[in-house]
Amino acid sequence: MGKKLLWAYGLLWCLQFASIQTAVAQSSPQETKTYVPVLPSVKAKFWKIDPALGYAVKNVGGGVYVISDNGWQSAFLVTNDGVIVFDAPASFGKNIPSAIAKVTDQPIKMLVYSHIHKDHIGGSAAFKNIKGLQIIATEGVANFLKEMNDPNRLEPTVTFASAKTIKLGGKTVELTRHFYHSHEGDLFIYVPDAKFMMAVDCVTPGYAPFQGFDITTNFHEYLKLFDELSAYDFTTFVGGHLTDIGGKKDVEETKEFTYDVYNTVKRIHNNMDQAAVVAEAAKTVGTDNEFALFKAVLDRVTNDAVRELQPRWIERLARVDVWLPSHVRTALIYVRWDDKE
Ligand SMILES: [Zn+2]
Repeated sequence: MGKKLLWAYGLLWCLQFASIQTAVAQSSPQETKTYVPVLPSVKAKFWKIDPALGYAVKNVGGGVYVISDNGWQSAFLVTNDGVIVFDAPASFGKNIPSAIAKVTDQPIKMLVYSHIHKDHIGGSAAFKNIKGLQIIATEGVANFLKEMNDPNRLEPTVTFASAKTIKLGGKTVELTRHFYHSHEGDLFIYVPDAKFMMAVDCVTPGYAPFQGFDITTNFHEYLKLFDELSAYDFTTFVGGHLTDIGGKKDVEETKEFTYDVYNTVKRIHNNMDQAAVVAEAAKTVGTDNEFALFKAVLDRVTNDAVRELQPRWIERLARVDVWLPSHVRTALIYVRWDDKE
């Protein structure tokens, strides 16, 4: 192919997708300005953070308090015999003991890890000198942290395989292990008396999920997550990130989005004339570059799916334009390699 033709082909490609602002590679400062602003309904719910403190605490009832810096979230349960903390994010973990001391005189007795990621438990070093503290996590999480030997993530002292009920000071916490996000396992942290559910890195109330359905390592488990959550009776949902907490409607809305992406990608992928896409790409890259030809098929599915999905979701979930291509890619990998026809 001559240079002129190649250039024309490139231009055509650009024009074809100019209507969407979500090319997979989009990184220059100019380009990032084209993202739509955060939805006003979401902006209205940003927590008011005292800059001197760097976090805010909200009482959600039943002895449960949520802490947020509008980027990360953790929570704690006050009982008559001590406090149980759920996660210690790297960003504000060092402030959690003093935040709790403002609410109660009860000592911190337990720290529960939702999963291994350092942004959620990398502030646990601040709990190092708390006498008799139990750090509770699944065996998978404990094994990983033992191997990692990271001074910022204290090693668990109490481990369990797949489910554990904690009883302290007349309160109950039910922990169950899932695999919707990280390879080592993720917890549902449920406080029945408070109708409180915390499941980190899956649903972000008001927003599209983070990159690639919250960088899930298992989209099959992620697809099951929503019904597993909805089986619980809760009114408060904490997802561990961003600017608000939510409820069942947020779980349902993210389910609807996730299945829309999945079903759309599956339909486009399975109905596409892949041989025609390969033949078209071969005009540019030749016939012996199999990776480039295959990439052309994956890129075509991705771009077609993004173009169809974005108008349906752009005014429903904030930041959907930022991560939609990555969500489509995650669903595409599942459809192509894991799913049945
Ligand atoms: Zn995570």
